[in-house]
Amino acid sequence: MADETSPKDSDYWEVATKIFQFNEVGSKEFQSSKFLVEVLKSRGFVVREKYLNIPTAFRAEKIVGTGKPTIGFLAEYDALPGIGHACGHNLIASSAVFSAIRATEKISDGTIVVFGTPDEEGTGEWAGSKAIMAERGAFRGIDLVLGSHPGDGWNVGSQSLAVQDFEITFRGRAAHEAADPDTGRSALDAAILTYNAVGMMRQHVRRDVNFVMHGIIKEGGTASNVTPEKAVLTYGIRATDVGYLDQIVKRFMKIVEGCTMATETTYSIRRIGPMFTTTKPNKTLSNWIMGNIRSRGINCPAFEETFKDIPRGSTDFANVSQVVPALEVGFQIADEGTPWHSRESLEAATSRRAKEALSVIIDVLSDTAREFSVNRKFREDIERDFRNG
Ligand SMILES: [Zn+2]
Repeated sequence: MADETSPKDSDYWEVATKIFQFNEVGSKEFQSSKFLVEVLKSRGFVVREKYLNIPTAFRAEKIVGTGKPTIGFLAEYDALPGIGHACGHNLIASSAVFSAIRATEKISDGTIVVFGTPDEEGTGEWAGSKAIMAERGAFRGIDLVLGSHPGDGWNVGSQSLAVQDFEITFRGRAAHEAADPDTGRSALDAAILTYNAVGMMRQHVRRDVNFVMHGIIKEGGTASNVTPEKAVLTYGIRATDVGYLDQIVKRFMKIVEGCTMATETTYSIRRIGPMFTTTKPNKTLSNWIMGNIRSRGINCPAFEETFKDIPRGSTDFANVSQVVPALEVGFQIADEGTPWHSRESLEAATSRRAKEALSVIIDVLSDTAREFSVNRKFREDIERDFRNG
């Protein structure tokens, strides 16, 4: 069949296209993961599937020469529910796999590892798997980690917001709202009070940490004549200072406590998924990669510029950057200002422009791996930046 791709012969664009077509959402990327594993196996990588007991994660490794140093590449392959690969993770999958394959050809000493990291978008059971993997020691013994992400411009790193999500369940007492209102205690009242109190707290927080707190009422009752005995809120709390985020969490707990006391209800609270931290920059690494990108005639701002921008999102890559020197390089597949997770970005993820940019990012990342393998000073400077960062 014309569209059958043998993993052995597949090239970087076929892989990007294939992952796009699989169109699998987070934690359910079974075909995508399997396909990438087959490609890597066909190129001599030794693969551990279901890595760290995460069903669609994997770890692929190939040793060259002395096997030192060890360089990891991060593959993502989850699509967005409903719209598909509008975040371009199909390109990240191909970028990681082919940067790794290319790196093994460019170095004479080193171990090249590809980490298959599911559910970056956080829609399933293994949401933010890189944070889980970092916690479970996946990056111990790794000297450098390289990732990439498509977008509306080139960049060598940007800051991200630490984030923790919560779900709060309030319990009251059901009663007929007209016949027995005195015996009812409304869980919805507790939820509404909490929602309003959070709104008031927002005025009294630090302004320099990019604080964001967003919430919804997920459940608020079943019928207007029944006192709601259950109400559920979910919140995301974000900031660029992890310590401050913890303080806000404590204030949030007080709010919930106070509002349940006022309404004679009870509550339970649980964290949803792991906390994502902030991204740790690495000047040496960013500058070297910027130079490599610019040497190809591509405009790429210095990391000092992109790091000072107000961060707009959060990522599990941040947790990797805290435990090992790492960088996620942004590569351009759409015009500046193109909205992401949109129909436009979906189209961009399989465009001719994406194909060209993907080819460049594979060159850039594999060049970086080669430099890291041969240049001791480069390695030491990166390590020093990491310790001081
Ligand atoms: Zn993404």
